[in-house]
Amino acid sequence: MAVCAGCGGRPFYTRRYSGETLCASCFRDSIVEKTRRTVAKYQMIAPGDRIAVAVSGGKDSLSLLKVLAGLYSRRPNHVLAVSVDEGVAGYRDEALDHARSAARDLGVEHVVVSYKELFGFSLDEALDWKEERDVSSCSFCGVFRRRAIDEAAVRVKASVVATAHNLDDFVQTFLMNLMHGDVARLGWLDPARTDSSFPIRRVKPFMEIYEEEVALFAYQDRIPFQSVSCPYMHEGLRSEVRDYLNTMEANHPGMKNVLLRSGLDLISRYSSSSGKQFVSCSACGKPSSNGLCNVCRMRAAVEEHVNMERNSRSVGGG
Ligand code: SF4
Ligand code: ZN
Repeated sequence: MAVCAGCGGRPFYTRRYSGETLCASCFRDSIVEKTRRTVAKYQMIAPGDRIAVAVSGGKDSLSLLKVLAGLYSRRPNHVLAVSVDEGVAGYRDEALDHARSAARDLGVEHVVVSYKELFGFSLDEALDWKEERDVSSCSFCGVFRRRAIDEAAVRVKASVVATAHNLDDFVQTFLMNLMHGDVARLGWLDPARTDSSFPIRRVKPFMEIYEEEVALFAYQDRIPFQSVSCPYMHEGLRSEVRDYLNTMEANHPGMKNVLLRSGLDLISRYSSSSGKQFVSCSACGKPSSNGLCNVCRMRAAVEEHVNMERNSRSVGGG
């Protein structure tokens, strides 16, 4: 029987793509070490950086918070948690509770911003309007979510925002961008992105770790995470791409790793040759590619709908 490649102990997990078998303790250490190496390789975090970890309350983001808080434990106030309350009744509360208690246990500051406070409506109110929308719930929500995380990061004076995107997220998004013909968005996958549209560096310290391994880390560390799914979750193409990639990986171990390398190679070539220009959004002043940013465009549409609903209710209801 195979033994742990690190210490000769009892086997716990075998990486099919490399053939490496590890015991539980060496597996855990390997995740922390891989994160540390990814951070160093892509120069994600510099000494003195203040790192805001975007924590949704799911297993990936809670694991990332734990790993980064451990790696930077000697530098007080360097890691903190930011969460977004989208305003989904019966769903977000549990996740936010997990985020709060994880931050408390790790002794890190935790800041929560909400859609209601930032945009004037909750996701429940915004998604009440379905028929006229031409994007899925998650694409719609994602536009506001990114802005909310940015706002939270600015509020806590962070110099870096760390998100828990893992290797599976990366390759799924990479393929989906190609399938949508959206090559211009490949730059968003840059592992340590700073651009003229946002001065805070966005980093993905888990981007070289398989989703399965992050999940195993969370289970092994007994990290309590959200059990309920968002009622609006609509992944469409993503779940098909995920199934396809999982089948490919099962038949050809390491395939996701190869796709990650290809994606990174393409991104570096693309970003060095593309000089995308931004102009200020006419409504909020944030950078946009065409004069009105996506947040303001969608926000105006939601407000119009919410006002129409209000008016029709007041006319109908007297
Ligand atoms: Fe928003 Fe989709 Fe996440 Fe629900 S699952 S909070 S709709 S991104
Ligand atoms: Zn705007």
